[in-house]
Amino acid sequence: MPMKSVSILGATGSIGKSTLDLVQRQPDAYKVEALTAQSNVPELAAAAIAVQARLAVIGDESLYAELKEALSGTNIGVGAGRDAVVAAAASGADWTMAAIVGCAGLEPVMAAIEQGGTVALANKEALVSAGDVLMSAVAEKGTTLLPVDSEHNAIFQCFEDRNAAHVRRVILTASGGPFRTMAATDLVNVTPAQAVRHPNWSMGAKISVDSATLMNKGLELIEAYHLFPVEADQLDVIVHPQSVIHSMVEYQDGSVLAQLGSPDMRTPIAYCLAFPDRMHAPVARLDFAQIGQLEFEDPDLDRFPCLRLAKSALAAGGSRPAILNAANEIAVAGFLGGQIGFMSIPAVVESVLEQYDAPAPSTIRDVLDIDEEARRLARLKMEAVAA
Ligand code: NDP
Ligand code: MG
Repeated sequence: MPMKSVSILGATGSIGKSTLDLVQRQPDAYKVEALTAQSNVPELAAAAIAVQARLAVIGDESLYAELKEALSGTNIGVGAGRDAVVAAAASGADWTMAAIVGCAGLEPVMAAIEQGGTVALANKEALVSAGDVLMSAVAEKGTTLLPVDSEHNAIFQCFEDRNAAHVRRVILTASGGPFRTMAATDLVNVTPAQAVRHPNWSMGAKISVDSATLMNKGLELIEAYHLFPVEADQLDVIVHPQSVIHSMVEYQDGSVLAQLGSPDMRTPIAYCLAFPDRMHAPVARLDFAQIGQLEFEDPDLDRFPCLRLAKSALAAGGSRPAILNAANEIAVAGFLGGQIGFMSIPAVVESVLEQYDAPAPSTIRDVLDIDEEARRLARLKMEAVAA
């Protein structure tokens, strides 16, 4: 087998580190082209040295000297700034992990898609904001886009392309997050520390808050709509607290195919890394007798209005998902920073959706303009809420 060259965008994050873990276990199979991060110089430099990357890029331009110093005495190339991150995304790797968080990952994802090859997509916000634009580029360039998100990876494994017309429903499972059973009156008082403590998965702060509000599941509905040939009304969500079934595809003959596994992102990442083959991943095996029972319940859209907002953004299409995503990114950052309460997240998002609309974006520039305006309005709303 020839070595596969890989680049990891967002190498210091939760997904980035899990990807590095798998790559490092098979040094004969993978060679690392570029690694990027935003501000964590020590971890970026350590990872670049550990895997002998050809290039390390830090998004924050002011950290160039620090990264250069940390990599002095090595022959690893150094870059800094936004343009360098975008260039790293198109540095010629056979396989690129897109694991930057937020719409900040959009231009790098587009650059990776445009160079062709394989793009493993974790950065769901990029696809939510610019789904049509990115998927057109995927089709035009013949890029292989593989879903890393556990639900979409599960669907990808269960979706029979040859029988797409016979798919009745795609069912995304949701853990329900840390506040699944909490009363509405208590939800207003939850703290960032409680919100990032997910019961089943260990993830970055932003997606952990999204899982707690169920916005994550809403973003995932929009993500699924773009990744698979289904209509919006064929997508369903079911809460499944054990996170053993990662999603399901129901066919017209009544068959429901599911993918199961331990809640460990190294399984879907390994699937993408080895695709179309399989590789070993060091994850806990399922012990069904120990698990005992699998439970399911409908999501509560009253206690978790973010899922309702995302569903209507998906149904309306056009620029609505980009507006929803941008407002949510600002609101989540505001909640994590202690500026607003947990239930102000849906309030800020809803307010921005009510105030603002724009024609459907047809380029990345259009998406970024919509994103910027929605962020501005979200900041204003947040100030009003916090006052
Ligand atoms: P983390 O917050 O753990 O990591 C984010 C990464 O992106 C870090 O490397 C960070 O660098 C970098 N980064 C942050 N801001 C910027 C920016 N403005 N420009 C360039 N790089 C930036 O996030 P996760 O790994 O949890 O999530 C990454 C993506 O994957 C998200 O879109 C998330 O929704 C998705 N995902 C994550 C899952 C998980 O289990 N964690 C599961 C499914 C999807 P630095 O460290 O220097 O700040
Ligand atoms: Mg997911």
